Amino acid sequence: MPRKRIYELARELGMSTRDLILSLEKLGMPGMSAFHMVSEEEAEVIRGLLAEKAETLAPAPAPAVPERKAPPAKPRPPVVAVLGHIDHGKTTLLDQIRKTRVAAGEPGGITQSIGAYQAQVDGKLVTFIDTPGHRAFTAMRARGAQVTDIAVLVVAADDGVMAQTVEALDHIKAAGVPMIVAINKIDKPEANPDRVKQQLASLGYIPEDWGGNTIMVPVSALTGQGVDDLLEMILLVAEMEGVSGDPEGELEAIVVESHMDQARGPVATAIVRNGTLRERDVVVAGTAWGRIRALLDHQGKRIPAAGPGTPVQVLGLSEVPPAGEKLARVATPKEAEEIVEKRREAEREKRLSARPRLTLEELLSTVQTKKLVLVIKAQSMGTLEAVRLELSTIQAEGVELEVLHAGVGQITESDVLLAAAETQGQPLILGFGVKVDPKAQKLAEQRGIPIRTYDIIYDLALDVERALKRLLGPEMREVKVGEAEVLRVFNISGVGRVAGCAVRSGRILRGAKARILRRGQEVFTGEISSLKRFAEDVREVREGYECGLRIQGFEDVQEGDVIEVYALEEVPV
Ligand code: GDP
Repeated sequence: MPRKRIYELARELGMSTRDLILSLEKLGMPGMSAFHMVSEEEAEVIRGLLAEKAETLAPAPAPAVPERKAPPAKPRPPVVAVLGHIDHGKTTLLDQIRKTRVAAGEPGGITQSIGAYQAQVDGKLVTFIDTPGHRAFTAMRARGAQVTDIAVLVVAADDGVMAQTVEALDHIKAAGVPMIVAINKIDKPEANPDRVKQQLASLGYIPEDWGGNTIMVPVSALTGQGVDDLLEMILLVAEMEGVSGDPEGELEAIVVESHMDQARGPVATAIVRNGTLRERDVVVAGTAWGRIRALLDHQGKRIPAAGPGTPVQVLGLSEVPPAGEKLARVATPKEAEEIVEKRREAEREKRLSARPRLTLEELLSTVQTKKLVLVIKAQSMGTLEAVRLELSTIQAEGVELEVLHAGVGQITESDVLLAAAETQGQPLILGFGVKVDPKAQKLAEQRGIPIRTYDIIYDLALDVERALKRLLGPEMREVKVGEAEVLRVFNISGVGRVAGCAVRSGRILRGAKARILRRGQEVFTGEISSLKRFAEDVREVREGYECGLRIQGFEDVQEGDVIEVYALEEVPV
């Protein structure tokens, strides 16, 4: 009995997978996924039900699934980044798609790459970022911009999962973008796609044909085999994710590539995610600004405007903005200049306030978050496991410890970028028995990412434990300051009950915290709101003297009550 998947059935029915899933939900079949298998019989039942309910279902109901963005946006081309281990075929895949899926440019058009291109698939467009690898991917994210909608992880079927595959997986996971795995080089006789699936499954990425939800597509970037399936899956994921943009909406554009051109000056390629970028717009990107002189598409053709999902080369900026910078539209050149000047000032201040090396605790003492996010590097798998094990024994209630990435080898720029892109918690890079690449060191200093290296595992664990406790805020303890006994209670009109006391030990302080004890039982805690000696307001009264005092919010003071005054002090860690 032939079986088909929901997305295949949707195609057959001429509707979108998303709509089909929503319709099925309405028909009492919830929880369907795009990859759910149905038998021909079930498909027949679904067809029948759909036809029956056609009147009630049409027009397409408002989606019950929450939209990613609030404004009524239209589907737009998804932005795809390609990641994976070196030599696994990322560049070949991007070239293959470009070669076969980009409509031929105009004769004489500039053929050079602008850092991104758009492929045509069944009349729909997919935007590919041309710089493969997780370094570029995370570098952009580290600037606070998320340009990628879908990540394609390339794994060579002859080589399997390698160090950088795991790294890329962690980078994708940290970014929270959906992933499709392209199992590449299946044309090779030694290719073993099943082994790749097994390896990925053991890392928690179960292929959908094994009942999991990781899409894996066998391809050959070299011959083009399977590439259509990959593109189809990209469009399916884009549809399921509701990738959309509003051409009339607020401009959201991100620089993905930039360079200085001898003839044209600073050149930046931006991808528009929302809104429309137009020639003559005044824009700011980091400390670069300008009135757009010209916009060029991915084939070097001049275009007046670029809408959602479109990569476009921008000419007319004052300097070269780094990849990952957001491109914002402002009203006037004056406004642009003001923003740039403020940013320059902030940069200068940051440079000047660079502080000497602090302990980890000091460093984290001002941190607001309750989560420590780690990137751990060790010299071997064995030591890495030992570090993980040691960290797992640390207990600090109320704070979280998350490992963003754990790998073998020295601390690199890509580790720093991954940490710098963290938005949920305080990032921290730990090295065990490894060195820090000088470039990574420099970048970490620029971005304010702490790196600590250790040779003794105990030191590492102790430091992390202290750092975690620091995130909780200092532990406080009570220190007794003094004690007084209530000898008489006065009712003073307009004031209330005043306790006439004798100070038995220590000092009584105005504004201090006090606990009222009656026959040894605590009856109230509050603050000493007024303190007098005779008729005069005083700050403190010492042992052996008498005073009159009031406790804020406490009108029940009685003769014989004991007033214990205490302070809170930080417990050193
Ligand atoms: P990257 O480092 O991931 O960008 O890898 P490349 O795209 O540069 O590919 C590395 C090598 O693998 C090159 O020699 C490619 O020709 C080869 N290669 C890439 N994809 C395939 C494929 O599908 N089949 C075969 N046989 N070779 C491939």
